[in-house]
Amino acid sequence: MTRPVATLTRKGARRRRGGHPWIYRSDIARAPEAPSGAIVDLRDASGRGLGRAAWSEKSLISLRAVPLAPDEDADAGWLRLVDAALDRRAQRPPCTRLVNADADGLPGLVIDRFGAGVSLQALTPAAFSRLDAVVAHIAARLSPTVIALRNDSRIAGLEGLPDDKRLLLGDDARVEAPVGALTWAFDLLEGQKTGGFLDQLENHRLAAEFARGDCLDCFTYEGGFALQMAAAGRPVIAVDSSAPALERLAGHAARNGLAVEALEANVFDLLRVYEREGRTFDTIVLDPPPFARNRKAIEPATRAYKEINLRAFKLLRPGGRLITASCSAHMSRNGFEAAVLSAAADAGVWAQIIHRRGAPPDHPVLLTAPETDYLKALFVQVV
Ligand code: SAH
Repeated sequence: MTRPVATLTRKGARRRRGGHPWIYRSDIARAPEAPSGAIVDLRDASGRGLGRAAWSEKSLISLRAVPLAPDEDADAGWLRLVDAALDRRAQRPPCTRLVNADADGLPGLVIDRFGAGVSLQALTPAAFSRLDAVVAHIAARLSPTVIALRNDSRIAGLEGLPDDKRLLLGDDARVEAPVGALTWAFDLLEGQKTGGFLDQLENHRLAAEFARGDCLDCFTYEGGFALQMAAAGRPVIAVDSSAPALERLAGHAARNGLAVEALEANVFDLLRVYEREGRTFDTIVLDPPPFARNRKAIEPATRAYKEINLRAFKLLRPGGRLITASCSAHMSRNGFEAAVLSAAADAGVWAQIIHRRGAPPDHPVLLTAPETDYLKALFVQVV
């Protein structure tokens, strides 16, 4: 049987040789004759091979490279890549990202483990059509008590997949798992994304060591930073605009015997009020939602990052500490640091970067896809 082939334009072939795994529809000279989800061979105009890729007819990102050997069976190879990703995380703590999509060579597939629970996203036709095999494999290898599918994402529509959120194994989506010294309750169906954010867990713990004195955690969500800082003995005010998130924060606090002052407010307004009132803090955390959701939003996002960082610098006492993050994939590390730098300059503070952080090693960055380096965090000391 001849295998389906996608022929790329000169530009597409150049981009593929440059290592980026994504091929846009406009970079395809001849589309493969294959159903969405098939793994196809990539060729340049002269017929030279450019590796293999997952085909998604409806998506603007129509092909995504998959590091399979030239003659490897695609379905068996997919599971081999899943196993390899799991093996690389063998030493990780109970709450860990096991598969990080393109960065692990598995476009669209995210698998997160929350203690005894597993939650996954299969947001390309290639990942979705192999879902049953992956779920059976994960069930056999990890014996979770519950497996949730979280394809309730905007991306599902872009890829021509159903918006789909349900339990594939078990009947209770709630799991408890240790996060550092705390016990955390996750709801695999109701929590954000796959049930919670795993990408900041190590930064939460570092924040607990880094924090001093009175702490203000802005954009706290369920209190990831706030509760670790409280566990380290700090008085913490935790701010979010979402009442349900703050309710869950209160639940985590009670479960762990911790006290945090939770405040439902818009951070932009609150920082202004605090400035007017002359309120000050020793440690401030800024971990906002992605301000830049596309390239066009980079400029306004830069202004927003600068604004909150400037206000935070003004509220810090001498010797204060700022933990500031951006999870916008479109915001480069340099661009983010430039916004924080300019905030420090306008506030007239002498600020040192003590830690430059990203997501933990279970969220690897693909060297040839800079947008996978989406999480930037700076731990800054004012002297
Ligand atoms: N810091 C959290 C993750 C934050 S996610 C952690 O480490 O786990 C971003 C949070 O910002 C969401 O909970 C959202 O409700 C909140 N948010 C978004 N815009 C806001 C605003 N203007 N003021 C306050 N909270 C906001």
